Amino acid sequence: MDLFQWITIGVVVIMIIVFLLIPNHTPFQCPKCGQTFVPKKAQLLGIHSYGSHMLKCPHCGKTSMMPPAGRE
Ligand SMILES: [Zn+2]
Repeated sequence: MDLFQWITIGVVVIMIIVFLLIPNHTPFQCPKCGQTFVPKKAQLLGIHSYGSHMLKCPHCGKTSMMPPAGRE
């Protein structure tokens, strides 16, 4: 591989590391019990669509599609 390919791979790797290091601050509200919680970033990499994420509620233990809290 030439130098340009190594630089491209390096930039992509750095972007992924930076993305993973920034913690998630977006709270989500459980539709089952109404509690809000801030899930870990790794949890947000799972199933999601239209801004809602498949998350497990730490309060009641139910797993369901949850929209970010504060957005109706
Ligand atoms: Zn809940």
